[in-house]
Amino acid sequence: MNCFYHPDHPAIGLCKYCQRGLCSECAAVVDDVLACKGRHEDEVHQLEQLTARNLFQSKRVASGYMRNAIFYGLVGAAFAGFGLWQLKWLGLQAAIFIMLGVFLFYAAGANYFEARKHK
Ligand SMILES: [Zn+2]
Ligand SMILES: [Zn+2]
Repeated sequence: MNCFYHPDHPAIGLCKYCQRGLCSECAAVVDDVLACKGRHEDEVHQLEQLTARNLFQSKRVASGYMRNAIFYGLVGAAFAGFGLWQLKWLGLQAAIFIMLGVFLFYAAGANYFEARKHK
């Protein structure tokens, strides 16, 4: 592959914005990736900032799901524990607490898998 702007020069890489071949004269390094010098440096910089922000956001989303998972897990354990403890005395009412606990465990699991998806 040769440089898009100098067909007689071998290309050293592609512009991240327009995907054209660049020789060492035409290539500018922006945020560790290549860009057409004087043409797409700003565009590549914006692209890189966008991806960096997306990564940051997906990490924040993941930690939010993780927090939910822990919260649901703890509340679920409390409900289920209380239900089991009271089962002898409360009967059906205690069973409702246990069912709520199981439901919360399920919600915790769903949030946990969602958090792993965003890693
Ligand atoms: Zn370009
Ligand atoms: Zn060139």
